Amino acid sequence: MKHWAGTVRTPGMALGTLCEPGQDARGNIVAAQEFTLAQALAVEGAAGIVTGHTPPGSHVAAVLGALGVPWLDGLCVFPDGYGHAAVLDALSGRLTLDPDETCVQNARTAARALAGGLASLRERACRVRPSAPDGAPVKVLATLNDLSQASAALAGGAEGVGLLRSEFLCGSEAIPSEDAQTWAYRSLPGPWPVVRLLDAAGDKPLPGCPPVRGIRLLACRPDLLRTQMRALLRASAEKPLRICYPFVTSPQELRDARQLLETCREALAREGVPTGRLEPGAMLETPAAVLTLRSLAEEASFFCLGSGDLTQHTLGVDRGDAGGLYDPRHPAVLRLTALAAREARRLGKDLCVCGPLAEDVGMARRLAALGVRALSVSAPLVPHVRLALG
Ligand code: PEP
Ligand code: MG
Repeated sequence: MKHWAGTVRTPGMALGTLCEPGQDARGNIVAAQEFTLAQALAVEGAAGIVTGHTPPGSHVAAVLGALGVPWLDGLCVFPDGYGHAAVLDALSGRLTLDPDETCVQNARTAARALAGGLASLRERACRVRPSAPDGAPVKVLATLNDLSQASAALAGGAEGVGLLRSEFLCGSEAIPSEDAQTWAYRSLPGPWPVVRLLDAAGDKPLPGCPPVRGIRLLACRPDLLRTQMRALLRASAEKPLRICYPFVTSPQELRDARQLLETCREALAREGVPTGRLEPGAMLETPAAVLTLRSLAEEASFFCLGSGDLTQHTLGVDRGDAGGLYDPRHPAVLRLTALAAREARRLGKDLCVCGPLAEDVGMARRLAALGVRALSVSAPLVPHVRLALG
């Protein structure tokens, strides 16, 4: 037996064979020094994850964390460990290769106990009423990277979908067709699910897209957004939806988006295709957006505060930073969050905090005390955040 120590990113216990990203991950432990985003999005049915280095604020971290399987970071067992049997103890932070029979039995017993623990955690979480220190209810919603995470989120007590990162529905090859997108948006659970318009970024490029951020795509590739808007409008005929525009910094961008949306609605009407209610909202991901929230509110019915990008653009530190400077708990980020919550409440608009600050379970009560009345977090964290506010 050989042992390595790592940092627990998602607690749990897993047994399997260590394999590379790209191999069949089902029932195995996928291991790599660094995952690309495409590799992280392609992991399906893995028993566990082992990484050498994953910056906590990165999109790769958001995707791997949302899988909810045991994950250890900071290990260097590549490539020699591939093909070996392994026990991933993401409770004490230890990876064992070629485990003996006793180690395997102990891991199986621990994994069974953890599975029972998850059922009772969810049950307790569904019974509490998450609330702020002043007694006001706080909604706990789900951030989804794909639809397969929806049932786990609901089982943990999610009251709906606070954010669908629609760009993650795209494989590395192509943006899904209008029909495929319509089906996906129709399938979202809960009242008024929030679908974010395609949001490309440096570490999440979109296939065939110029490297521009969020809503800025409207100026150079309106055709890509037209397909998505048509799909959202078609889905809204069956269920009212919220459409959230990413990386907005001015009300003019929201007006331009509204115009394109109306053009799509008219085209669908001419084709005899029914459409329904689609409420527009804006991501708050830059200090500019937070500080001009009032003018954005002229065009936005609700706001999602993306704390990952807000941290990056407030502190001037890349989300991939590994030097410890990337800190969503920084006082400047918290003051902007409190300001946004206060302004939104004064204007009677919903505001939901998502991203790493919302997913920091230890911050849930503090955010509620700052005036935040909705948090959107990955499916595995939903019961934990509910209990922290219960
Ligand atoms: C964020 O910035 O916090 C957010 C939720 O958006 P994304 O992580 O997809 O950039
Ligand atoms: Mg963002």
